[in-house]
Amino acid sequence: MPPTKAPPEPGHAPAVRIGNAATIRRRLLAWFDKHRRDLPWRAKPGKTPNAYHVLVSEAMLQQTQVATVIPYFTRFITACPTVQALAKADEQTVLRLWQGLGYYRRARNLHAAAQTIVNDHAGRVPDNVPDLLSLPGVGRYTAGAIASIAYDTRAPILDGNVARVLSRLCLIDSPIDATDTRKRLWSLAEALVPPGRPGDYNQAMMELGALVCAKANPSCKSCPLSKQCQALQAGRVAEVPISAKRKAPVGVDHHILAVCRRGRVLFEQRPADGLWSNMWQLPTAEDFNDAASPSSLQDWLQTRSGLTISDPTKIETFTHQTTHRTIRFHLWQSTATAGRLRPNTGIWRGVTDLDDLPLPNPQRKAVAIIK
Ligand code: SF4
Repeated sequence: MPPTKAPPEPGHAPAVRIGNAATIRRRLLAWFDKHRRDLPWRAKPGKTPNAYHVLVSEAMLQQTQVATVIPYFTRFITACPTVQALAKADEQTVLRLWQGLGYYRRARNLHAAAQTIVNDHAGRVPDNVPDLLSLPGVGRYTAGAIASIAYDTRAPILDGNVARVLSRLCLIDSPIDATDTRKRLWSLAEALVPPGRPGDYNQAMMELGALVCAKANPSCKSCPLSKQCQALQAGRVAEVPISAKRKAPVGVDHHILAVCRRGRVLFEQRPADGLWSNMWQLPTAEDFNDAASPSSLQDWLQTRSGLTISDPTKIETFTHQTTHRTIRFHLWQSTATAGRLRPNTGIWRGVTDLDDLPLPNPQRKAVAIIK
């Protein structure tokens, strides 16, 4: 069979040489049949996948490793076993189930997607890419993954693992995040996904990227595609893919106030938009710089809640990394000495009585410290 070419895109870089697409598919599927991992959302060979399980797992797996997701997935499916149950659940329940996984926008989108599926698709997860793309939080990758894995629809996928394998397989040495490179990679993924077993093929590509074609020290000796791999033949595996330089994260300082009164601690709910929206936290000042003083924090809390507090003492500083920021959290402890908490500004809770309050990870860490 002659080498397959990815379809050229008008006005963009020329198509890349793939090699023998039929051989790549055959070898990859044979490898997957032997090495596929048994995962709670993955159907056993010959069984029909549960599209709702695929939807939930794909939402959780964005930016998160398989091993981390497994216990969260199991807990989530036990609490919300069907798309209807998820659609009916309240947002705080969904956030609590997600607590610790991070990137909470995914949880809100998944919740909204379940409601759209119930309202507009008679409770059935759509089986085609255009309908899937109309769901909140579902982009091209997730739509392709759900359509192919849950329904065996021929649809390409491109996540970090697949992009790395394809870059090496076809020796694409332009920066991996550049628009042109992404187009070439999507076009390659589209040309390679087979009409038969597209779901298994896509999972095999991701699995190969996760288990064999790792970022550092890929196991080329045990790779089923070593004979087809152009980067390996050219001795350039270590150079590809080329990463574009990312902007360094900006450092910011947030001040957490653990205010106690009669054995309980003050908590407040975050606003409905922005980072960690609607989740709960110890009162946290985000507009001070590193040099916040005990008296400035006292004034800040007084204005915010009506409470007078004793001089706060700093007990610890720790950092939390987000995509664009390195946040230094300064944890202060204090006691409420006078004043009444204004309505809707917070609640008093014991630190062992927080099961119904979803807390972002750095806030959980702060609570663990004051415990
Ligand atoms: S031969 Fe090596 S670099 Fe090429 S696809 Fe396989 S693991 Fe990746």
